[in-house]
Amino acid sequence: MIRDIIIYGDPVLRTKGKSVEKFDDELRALATDMLETMYEANGIGLAAQQIGEAIQLTVIDISEAESRPSQMWINGVEVDPKEHMPVVLINPEIGFGDEVEIGSEGCLSFPDITGEISRSASIRVKSRDLDGKPVEFEAAGLLSRAVQHETDHLNGILFIDRMSSAAKSALAGKLKRLVTETG
Ligand SMILES: [Zn+2]
Repeated sequence: MIRDIIIYGDPVLRTKGKSVEKFDDELRALATDMLETMYEANGIGLAAQQIGEAIQLTVIDISEAESRPSQMWINGVEVDPKEHMPVVLINPEIGFGDEVEIGSEGCLSFPDITGEISRSASIRVKSRDLDGKPVEFEAAGLLSRAVQHETDHLNGILFIDRMSSAAKSALAGKLKRLVTETG
């Protein structure tokens, strides 16, 4: 079922997600709804907060982003990221590489807003799948960026928090309008 996407201004986007403890049909149904909602909106990632549920669950699929490459390694072996999409991350923990890169980001909760955001170029992800089984991989490129953007959401952190103060002031009018429309 396609859900309404929560827009900036709603406090749920600032709420840290609770750890998932039950890997049941309800969780599976929620993940399915999130994937349908993300694909319908042409997004590459969606966090549970963005459909109003403050839990540690996010979905990602970068396979349609042809112009922005991703790399993925499982057990140290490079794999084709497309063969591992979509990714469902539950209770994820991220290890950040030292190298940083700046790239453009948008967010389904901020229609018509993009920003240049600095992120770790590569990351190590430890997570659970929908059966509660451990999932581990390393990522670089767009996948690394998407995982960092989405796991920020799970902790109530938004991409505007990572913009320069100049970029954020330039967006002040647009942001205020979003909040007004939400309220
Ligand atoms: Zn977002």
